[in-house]
Amino acid sequence: MDAFFEDISANNVPTPPTTQTTGPQPAQTTEISHIKALHKITDVGFNKILALLQKACSPSKGYNFPSSYYEIKKTYKKIGLGYESIHACINDCFLFWGSEDNLKMPNCPICKASRWKDPKKTKGKKVANKVVRYFPLTPRLQRMFNTKHIAKWMTWHATGQSKENGKMNHPCDGKAWKYFDMMKPEFFIVTL
Ligand SMILES: [Zn+2]
Repeated sequence: MDAFFEDISANNVPTPPTTQTTGPQPAQTTEISHIKALHKITDVGFNKILALLQKACSPSKGYNFPSSYYEIKKTYKKIGLGYESIHACINDCFLFWGSEDNLKMPNCPICKASRWKDPKKTKGKKVANKVVRYFPLTPRLQRMFNTKHIAKWMTWHATGQSKENGKMNHPCDGKAWKYFDMMKPEFFIVTL
């Protein structure tokens, strides 16, 4: 999986087809997911496009597109790039999150708006009025430190401080940064 992540990070440009047949190509997956987000393509529509691409661009020609958006999301989750869906009040005053009581609430405790869409319009299905995507920071940072060429830049503030006495090139050369390093030595050591 590390190689997969490194490939994603290193390829911001379209990747030519290769003979890889073991799974979807990271760069293609990233690009097509970006298009989905930019143009607000629905999951159903996106899956249809993927099906067409799979048919038109077969692995024998060097392409390997994922079969569904669900498959892409599973892959992103595996490499620490997933997200949590949290229901929110339609008027933005409350998150149905945290305690068991909050998770069960059918109405916003502040403005009393319903948490759910009108069941008549959703064929009786419980569909939240508003969903917030939360991208947890810890697994993302772990992935960055796990990848050699990114970890180098993540620790730059500790290794790249100015060597010229009194010259400030970056906030890490400043008094505030140095004071923080002194107050939190465990953080400083971890980053080295
Ligand atoms: Zn509310």
